[in-house]
Amino acid sequence: MRIIIMGPPGAGKGTQAKHLAQHFGIPAISTGDIFRTNVSLATPLGLDAKRYLDAGEYVPDEITNDMVRDRIGEPDAATGFLLDGYPRTLAQVEELDGMIEPAGHVIDAVISLVVDEDEVVERLLKRARIEGRADDTEDIIRRRQEIYLEQTAPLIDAYSKQGLIVEVDGLGDVDKVTSRILSAYDLSDAEAIC
Ligand code: AMP
Repeated sequence: MRIIIMGPPGAGKGTQAKHLAQHFGIPAISTGDIFRTNVSLATPLGLDAKRYLDAGEYVPDEITNDMVRDRIGEPDAATGFLLDGYPRTLAQVEELDGMIEPAGHVIDAVISLVVDEDEVVERLLKRARIEGRADDTEDIIRRRQEIYLEQTAPLIDAYSKQGLIVEVDGLGDVDKVTSRILSAYDLSDAEAIC
């Protein structure tokens, strides 16, 4: 099972990804988390990525694609994975297809969390107070929303054309959103794919 979860920054992708990955027994792969771990360990990848993360800009595709190719090549991702935060550009969509197609794999579904912009900005400001993430200041939050609309929102159209989008209302408490996703996503099909 190979699933993608999408939505604007603050839509709750990370939390839902963890719940769903546990439910399906596949790894949740968050490019944001991998970048942040590398930044905090000051690895060469982290040193390259830091300035983009701090500014709320996307890390260049070549760096991001190589990192994802390595990660999905690990043994725990052999039977499936849930991608959180990737792909984020149309070029990354193509690249991802190229990573999995040689093995005869496809993307099974793209969950799109739909949320109101004011609500997500409020959520991110709250997260900034709790977690103190460097990219959660108000200016950077707004910049990240802008980039999402410019570069990532078009992916929803692209995946809709392939019939892969599962649209889910992302507002409300975490468990409610998880059950909405599980009922929207046809579980009998999903289990058959496993
Ligand atoms: P996230 O935790 O998913 O909100 O990601 C945090 C930051 O990591 C983003 O603002 C980008 O700087 C970087 N990032 C994560 N995923 C990608 C991606 N697919 N392409 C480019 N940059 C990314």
